[in-house]
Amino acid sequence: MVGPPPRTWTIDPALSGAREVADRVWCLRLPLPWELIPHVNAYAIERSDGEVMLIDCGGWGDETSWSTLLHALNDAEIPLCRVTSLLLTHYHSDHAGTAGRLIDETGCTLYGHASHHHFTDALLHPRQIASARARRALREGVPAGELPAYQTVREELEGIIAPVIPERTLQEGLQIEGWRVLEVPGHAPSQVCLYREEDRVLIGADLFGSAYTPYMDYGCSEDPVQEYLDSLAKVEALRSALLLPGHGRPLAEVSSHLRLWRLGIEREREAVLAAVRSSSRGDAGDDRARHTAAPNRGGAHTDPRSFGGYAVAKRVAKEAMADSRQAPTVLANVLSHLRHLRLQGLIERREEADGSYHYVAC
Ligand SMILES: [Zn+2]
Ligand SMILES: [Zn+2]
Repeated sequence: MVGPPPRTWTIDPALSGAREVADRVWCLRLPLPWELIPHVNAYAIERSDGEVMLIDCGGWGDETSWSTLLHALNDAEIPLCRVTSLLLTHYHSDHAGTAGRLIDETGCTLYGHASHHHFTDALLHPRQIASARARRALREGVPAGELPAYQTVREELEGIIAPVIPERTLQEGLQIEGWRVLEVPGHAPSQVCLYREEDRVLIGADLFGSAYTPYMDYGCSEDPVQEYLDSLAKVEALRSALLLPGHGRPLAEVSSHLRLWRLGIEREREAVLAAVRSSSRGDAGDDRARHTAAPNRGGAHTDPRSFGGYAVAKRVAKEAMADSRQAPTVLANVLSHLRHLRLQGLIERREEADGSYHYVAC
């Protein structure tokens, strides 16, 4: 999820560019129309036979997205006809949006992970997924007036030109042109990294980067928080010399950034746990009062400790929750933490008579 749809999809292709960032690897810096995520990195890998494999291809919006990819390839002096394969690090629109057009134009082979339903479900069944998102938001205490921001499927419908299903499936340990595939779920169930042993270069996708901005696709896998922490640990063990991230600049200080991300996620988990514990003690303050005073579907909450996911999110990230562009992603992360804490046996989720949830410490 990359925020609400932008005011305009048009971007300036001239703002894209390419530079060689490792042996036979070009970073294609592609501007995006999304306000909160202004750029994404795709990578072009030159193979020994002269053909080129693209790693991701940028988002879709309108024709200028395609012109932008062409402009960056041109900057790297790579003619489009040399692109014979496309590997998606994961199925999010900013990485996969232009894939359908690229396949149409080149006939390239598509590599992707089999767990793409977290994204393609909304593409194939948008109304059903929008309803499911609205139901979940209501159960977590989102006020009815704020539902549109939480149930939207516009990113999936407008940020990608067409559904793309992988032709070749990415699995742990698969070797492609000297790069090893690592499955690293957490940010998204379909996410992979690529690691080249010979120079310890890691193409890290959205697992981590210089700016600490973790996002977890909630509701698409068992325990996104644990998956995220396990994925960070798996990558930490590689001792990579260079990270080529999905967003931002290449990083040489890989382990220190990995540590910061792990500590950041652990701190968020503690903050969510503390919020639930304080609500269970009855000192949740205004957030709880507002939640219990205004149940979203007309039913009265009978339990005075009622504290849904929305109220927890407002308690741990008040400022971000006040920004409608950020609030749905913050709530997704908080719900991921709440699920993780439930699985750890540290909190419980109870259901009110009106179907809404509240969380209490064990
Ligand atoms: Zn992503
Ligand atoms: Zn991304």
